[in-house]
Amino acid sequence: MNTHPIDRIAALPAYVPGKPAKVKLASNENPFPPLPSVIEAITVAAGEINRYPDTASLELREQVARKYDVPPEQVAIGAGSLTIGEQILQAFTHEGDEIVYGWRSFEAYPLVSAVVGVRAIQVPLREHMYDLDAMLAAITDRTRVIIVCNPNNPTGTAVQRDRLVAFLDAVPSEVLVIIDEAYGEYIDDPQIASGVDLIKGRQNACLLKTFSKAYGLAALRIGYVVSENLDIAASVGKTAMPFSVSTIAQAAAIASLHAEGELRDRVAQTTSERVRLTTELRALGWTVPDSQANFVWIDSGTDTPELVRRLGAVGISGRAFGEEGIRVTVGTPDENDLFLSAVRG
Ligand code: PMP
Repeated sequence: MNTHPIDRIAALPAYVPGKPAKVKLASNENPFPPLPSVIEAITVAAGEINRYPDTASLELREQVARKYDVPPEQVAIGAGSLTIGEQILQAFTHEGDEIVYGWRSFEAYPLVSAVVGVRAIQVPLREHMYDLDAMLAAITDRTRVIIVCNPNNPTGTAVQRDRLVAFLDAVPSEVLVIIDEAYGEYIDDPQIASGVDLIKGRQNACLLKTFSKAYGLAALRIGYVVSENLDIAASVGKTAMPFSVSTIAQAAAIASLHAEGELRDRVAQTTSERVRLTTELRALGWTVPDSQANFVWIDSGTDTPELVRRLGAVGISGRAFGEEGIRVTVGTPDENDLFLSAVRG
């Protein structure tokens, strides 16, 4: 791994974003338009864009801290949770250190690892689920960071509370665990643990969150991290490009935190559509693991290209991985109907 950044970056495949489509179910976005109160806050903030934003995002940081009942020093705001994840790797790893995460998981993990210069140790999923025992077994004296994507992108699966807590207890204190809860708001199984309770009393854990999914602000690039280890928020402050979180993004995030009740109703609509999609796909004979996110995974194997063709024929894009499977975002009820009829062929 001890290559120069120039060579590592030249060798990288580019991140392939979900393609525009008539019905885009490829990027796990929120299908609902922005709330009127959020548009109003954005409009007000637009009147201030001749000034640089508050680079410390002080007001938002305080609101996030209040949401979790933690001191603001435990929170850092950043330009999307992926960027924050990269900043944490920059601050806590040396070139050639190892990072462990499950695979298949979020496609950006290997890209970010390569950019930073850490060696990615990908531990295969077990029955579509993060295999925490195998991840523990993969820890070496070079391991510095572990990512647990919970719920996992693209399979939607989430590990149960007891297992995750036992895992966190077992990880050596010098290894930092990043719990990536980009989709945490969509969890409705009480057996699954999420939120700051998981990281309470742990210096070697942090919770990575985004406003891109349940909060519907994907285009604004804003997320945050919470950790009792104050070095984490401080290091995100140090590694941030100044002014990378816009005034508009901060205002929209604050307005969204004030509208959590409305957003929760939308999340509930998505989770009930998720159940419908899962049930109907299974009835059609497809293997679909239980999802706790705003998308479902179809374990379609060699049938994947045919499924992609059927969806493409009616203008629907999902996220297919070769002959492995396809991830489809839960859309509006109409979009989901169209999707189901396309699957039926
Ligand atoms: N983590 C996971 C698991 C994701 O799927 C995504 C987005 N696809 C992100 C992080 C990135 O979120 P953000 O928009 O906040 O960078």
